[in-house]
Amino acid sequence: MQPKIRKQINDQVNQEMASAYLYLGMANHYAEQGWNGFAHWFYNQATEETDHVMKLIHYLHDEQQKVTLDGIASFNLAFNTLKDPLEIALKHERQITSFIHQIYKTALEEEDYRTTQFLNWFIEEQAEEEKTVSELLLNYDRCNGNLQALALLDRELSKRG
Ligand code: MG
Repeated sequence: MQPKIRKQINDQVNQEMASAYLYLGMANHYAEQGWNGFAHWFYNQATEETDHVMKLIHYLHDEQQKVTLDGIASFNLAFNTLKDPLEIALKHERQITSFIHQIYKTALEEEDYRTTQFLNWFIEEQAEEEKTVSELLLNYDRCNGNLQALALLDRELSKRG
């Protein structure tokens, strides 16, 4: 594996870990206001991000590459509304998609077809992540600030497995 591909994948380990951290913060924000369904949804989202971390680590090790763990950026974001985290999450996932695409582009340039093959899973996953968060945002907007509707949505979100 080319060192620059190893570095980009290793950086992605950090990005996915930072994503988990971001979603933990969002989950805490909802939990502290009693929106337990939203909190549950984001705690699960954080767990998924650590699954992404493990996939990347296993791939690097399968390719006999070293993994280095860097400091995780903390997000002390002030959320003013219930909607804020949803918009930030969508923007964040779009950025993650662009990072994945960048690694793919490098792998293609370096003719590292094992890595392009490996990244296909992440490319599909990112499409799914963007779709899921967009739908959540749409469902939130449809509540139009109505507390009863939001409570129903909160209950729905608590069912995420
Ligand atoms: Mg991810």
